[in-house]
Amino acid sequence: MEKLVEGVHTFRSQYFANHRSLFRHLAERGQKPETLFITCADSRVVPNLITNTEPGELFLVRNVGNIVPRANLPGGTAAAIEYAIEVLGVTDVIVCGHTHCGAMQALLDPASVEHLVREEVGRAGRTGAGHRQRALRSSRTGRADDGGGR
Ligand SMILES: [Zn+2]
Repeated sequence: MEKLVEGVHTFRSQYFANHRSLFRHLAERGQKPETLFITCADSRVVPNLITNTEPGELFLVRNVGNIVPRANLPGGTAAAIEYAIEVLGVTDVIVCGHTHCGAMQALLDPASVEHLVREEVGRAGRTGAGHRQRALRSSRTGRADDGGGR
């Protein structure tokens, strides 16, 4: 944690100090990114670094495995995509995967994460999040399950 606090101080004194006009412009005029960039939550994927872009240039959606679920499933991905396209007017959509993705490895070897799925289903049940159970069930079977009872 100490490293992160130190990093914030360094960011403020160096990067932010050297880019004040950019941040002022973004604060006053809002964001107008041209690109929606959907990628994995993996800490090794750093979108602005690998695309050499500045704050305000990429609208980011991150989740485990850079997965774009069906629009009617719960979660924020569909809402973020709709916002990026309909409100921000992005013109490019990029889905960026990466090597050694744990989510993709889990899809190829579901038994390796079976214990995680059981725990999550139990937790979802205790919180009354039945929709999450359906999503997990569908991810395990590979079929969409919108809970419609079909
Ligand atoms: Zn990944």
